[in-house]
Amino acid sequence: MNDIRLEKDSNQIVTLTFDAQGQSANTMNTAFRDSLRAVTQKIVADKAQIKGILLTSAKSTFFAGGDLNELVQVGTEDADKIFAMVEGIKADLRTLESLGLPIVAAINGTALGGGWEIALACHHRLLLNDPKVRVGLPEVTLGLLPGGGGVVRTIRLLGLEKGMPLLMEGKQLTPEAALKMGLVHGLASSTDELNAKARQWIFENPSSKQIFDQEGYKVPGGNAKTPKLAEMLPIVPAMLLDKTKGCYPAPEAILEAAVESLHVDIDTALRIESRYFARLATGQVAKNMIGSFWFQLNAIKAGESRPRDFPRQKFQKIGVLGAGMMGAGIAYAAAKAGIDVYLKDVSIEAAEKGKQYSAKLLDGRLQKGQITEADKHAFLEHIIPIDSYEALANCELVIEAVFEDRQVKKDVTEKTVAVLPRHAIMASNTSTLPITSLAKASPYQNQFIGLHFFSPVDKMQLVEIILGAETSRETLARAFDFVRQIDKVPIVVNDSRGFYTSRVFGLYTQEGIAMLAEGQAPMAIERAALQAGMPVGPLAVSDEVSLSLFDLVRKATEADLVKQGKPAPQHPSFAVVDRMLHEFKRKGKAAGAGFYEYPKDGKKYIWPQLSSLYQGSPLPFQDLKDRLLFIQALETVRIYEEKVLMSVADANIGSIFGFGFAPWSGGTLQFINSYGVRAFTMRAHELAQRYGERFTPPRLLIEKSERNEKF
Ligand code: NAD
Repeated sequence: MNDIRLEKDSNQIVTLTFDAQGQSANTMNTAFRDSLRAVTQKIVADKAQIKGILLTSAKSTFFAGGDLNELVQVGTEDADKIFAMVEGIKADLRTLESLGLPIVAAINGTALGGGWEIALACHHRLLLNDPKVRVGLPEVTLGLLPGGGGVVRTIRLLGLEKGMPLLMEGKQLTPEAALKMGLVHGLASSTDELNAKARQWIFENPSSKQIFDQEGYKVPGGNAKTPKLAEMLPIVPAMLLDKTKGCYPAPEAILEAAVESLHVDIDTALRIESRYFARLATGQVAKNMIGSFWFQLNAIKAGESRPRDFPRQKFQKIGVLGAGMMGAGIAYAAAKAGIDVYLKDVSIEAAEKGKQYSAKLLDGRLQKGQITEADKHAFLEHIIPIDSYEALANCELVIEAVFEDRQVKKDVTEKTVAVLPRHAIMASNTSTLPITSLAKASPYQNQFIGLHFFSPVDKMQLVEIILGAETSRETLARAFDFVRQIDKVPIVVNDSRGFYTSRVFGLYTQEGIAMLAEGQAPMAIERAALQAGMPVGPLAVSDEVSLSLFDLVRKATEADLVKQGKPAPQHPSFAVVDRMLHEFKRKGKAAGAGFYEYPKDGKKYIWPQLSSLYQGSPLPFQDLKDRLLFIQALETVRIYEEKVLMSVADANIGSIFGFGFAPWSGGTLQFINSYGVRAFTMRAHELAQRYGERFTPPRLLIEKSERNEKF
């Protein structure tokens, strides 16, 4: 009974306190399961001498959820074991829930996943009203479904219409939102109040029953046979498929488990849910998502790539040069973290305009009731438009986000380092120019680094930190601290053209455009990408970035390579881009015409003439899908081989957060692992034979394949 303390007081109220030994949070591991079984048996045996049961936790959170260390290791051969495991937990919870004793959850902190499922098995839920507290079932975001009764009880309590969005989106609710939805019955402002209210409720409800076990209880909205739902439900799977493209088994399983649960009694429903859970937990997609979104992301946030031997720095004042799209966004992100931002552009008016960008974003949050007018005011005080370099004299870090032009960047860097304190660091937000070369504008190259943000900065979580040849480890540590301080996710790469993200993303768009040159139907190309799990097709995203920018980057690359005596790069997509730009004058979305047409008052559609520009027989659809993912995964291996990327976690998280690489796969390198390193290598050889040398597996991949070793 180690992990759950059982105490009975003089009023015959049993308190079960979750207190996992040797862990900072409670999880549903073996020790917990054994303890749950033991306390349940004790309560059953002692039932006549018990008036009620109160559940709470000794940790700062109520309960964290399933034990992911355990789950990530199971394979398809373990399905029976997993099924039996969740059935065991559910049997105990169901026993407590239907014992005929009032049972209340005094939820003293965040309760997610399994933790919230325990709370749902109580008749009454009271929650600590703290702004940091969240409750909900985020399993779907890790490729799972709530297998501890979460689907069944949510649907029985709320009905399909209200319950499904919570389960399918894995929403985490604030105490107020949970109260509003009726998922908790009351809030308390302190743990003392919480416990007192819980006891009071037990005294007042001696013969309480779970609401859906009460006679005559009707599930809100009814079941699938109720006319309104019967009309709506048949189209739901199609709507879901439109969103998931069949890449995500979890939301499909949640939908099935939820609908089926209403046709049967609760015990059968719980068993159905366990079967779906076992299938998902032992499947590959959950493994990919848990590995990347949980373990690797946490390792990155905890500082896996940060040199350890430097104290953590907290930034108070920074400077941002260039108040355009990126600079204004960076200023917003830093001000949000309470940092003072000195924002400079070519004139005070231009800098003010950059500040206005934050004001606009804040107005949006104000309208949604997320902040108050006072919050907005306090936020904006952190952004100080300036028009002289001298005003940067007290900054600890300056990030330049001026035009992508070497000369402009050199000029602003020289003028900035001339006024900066000696210890300050300087960063560039360039997306293509090598950091080592930009650093040369500073006499302190060791204090120069790349901080590559993504657009729109307020939404995109990733920052690619780029080390120049001379960047010191201390500068890296400090830049890393800044990125974490503004609550973004840092990956760290060595200097190289396009770094990691732009280099791989560029190949994705080029591969799609190359297919056009082979006479593939534009719609087939776009669909192949979406069905492979990419968020936007290569043609649509090329239009967004603009074809003229591709051309600019290509020309700059060519010039640099030729200077180094290397041959200019070749790619079958180049000819298509040239024709689009010069023959048809279609530069992309901003210009109103690209691969797509952009009617003023309608939805965009593929430019009708596009499909007649090149002729060719349709290729197997699977080849199109594979080419779009393989080209990215193969380039990632090359980048890793070149030691531009230094960690697998950075590769995976950078690919998903930076350029939207199919999240179901767990990222570019995990995609290879889950495909099977050997099978992937063989398929790459095949693609190379059919479609060109760019698919030839790099040496590192061949070695891994020979050793049958994963990334
Ligand atoms: P932008 O054109 O929107 O903004 C550039 C700003 O810099 C303009 O406001 C301009 O007035 C200002 N500026 C020019 N010369 C200046 C000077 N001497 N001193 C101060 N300010 C000056 O460009 P952007 O899209 O914000 O890009 C800025 C940088 O960020 C570029 O290096 C770009 O490659 C990089 N970047 C852009 C994106 C993107 O998606 N747009 C993504 C990542 C990185």
